Amino acid sequence: MNVRDSEFVTGVLLGSGFQKASSEDKADVIIFNSCSVRKHAEDRLFSNISELKNLKKKKPGLIIGLMGCTAQAYKEKAIGRAPIIDFVCGPGNVHEIPAIIKKVAKSHRAIVATDKVDSPRPELFPKFRIEGLLAYVSISEGCNNYCSYCIVPYVRGRERSRDTTDIIKEVKDLASRGFKEIMLLGQNVNSYKYGFIQLLEKLNNVEGIEKIRFMTSHPKDVSRELFEAMHDLEKIDKRLHLPVQSGSDRILKLMNRGYTKDHYRKLVSMYKKLVPGGEITTDIIVGFPRETERDFKDTVRLVEKTQFDGAYIFKYSPRPPARSCKLKDDVPPEEKQRRLAVILDIQREMSRKKRRCV
Ligand code: SF4
Repeated sequence: MNVRDSEFVTGVLLGSGFQKASSEDKADVIIFNSCSVRKHAEDRLFSNISELKNLKKKKPGLIIGLMGCTAQAYKEKAIGRAPIIDFVCGPGNVHEIPAIIKKVAKSHRAIVATDKVDSPRPELFPKFRIEGLLAYVSISEGCNNYCSYCIVPYVRGRERSRDTTDIIKEVKDLASRGFKEIMLLGQNVNSYKYGFIQLLEKLNNVEGIEKIRFMTSHPKDVSRELFEAMHDLEKIDKRLHLPVQSGSDRILKLMNRGYTKDHYRKLVSMYKKLVPGGEITTDIIVGFPRETERDFKDTVRLVEKTQFDGAYIFKYSPRPPARSCKLKDDVPPEEKQRRLAVILDIQREMSRKKRRCV
């Protein structure tokens, strides 16, 4: 999603007469696009921004901007943390970036634009795309799920689905420009308001497009119909990314995920039956507040039984204002690290065995 946002902003800027600089020290404007899903990424971001201090001293007219989820979460506090920032722009305000840059250049004052967190943005323009065969197509933005650890609903707003006709028009245009593969993007593609399966059926008929992928799916919203569509529609990629997050029902409830481990397991066996040859990957968080050894073992068992083809495993970190911040972050860092290593080892071994079997 961030790649698509960067592409979108590049297009907006090129359309307003800006040009791409060949290197950082030749640029008049440097914009950082940011992710705030994990604290580690945020810390790295601010350290990368601070590394520009010397360049800014040498070139006082240099404008440094921050966009993306961290911009929305921090607002003016981002400037407090990194005073060399000239503007902070949330995901809903990105189309304003050319005007913001012009204002900063004129007034030499910092600007914070984060008021449009819930607004849809014009997605049919600009046409700029990173060259290649794969193009990202956003089908919805924001999220209504409020998983307790997640900052997305606060920084990307409530879920807004794009019109099906706009999406089809965009995909046809991409096909006419030589793109062969599209990746449909949404925080929860399965809750696409105008029918996700119907959208897949329509896109499957777009001439020139050979493969359609999508992410991310939510276990409470995927269904037998989706798996049948993945089986029947020849252009739909058979791989499924289905984040489980934990194998403990107690922790899933604290995470506000809206399903149990049994429901998740049933979905996986249904998928494996209906989509033969498919591959399933997942996300897991270890060390969520109040996660006991017993909860953790439930996750280990789920990982062993499910036989994922791949897993992204993360250590929990509180992301204010997400609701889990009200719970004490009570799993010590070294224990989080141990749990992460245990699951990583199991997953690596499973992936190795699977590769050997292929
Ligand atoms: S589904 Fe949950 S984890 Fe995913 S973006 Fe929405 S709130 Fe965050």
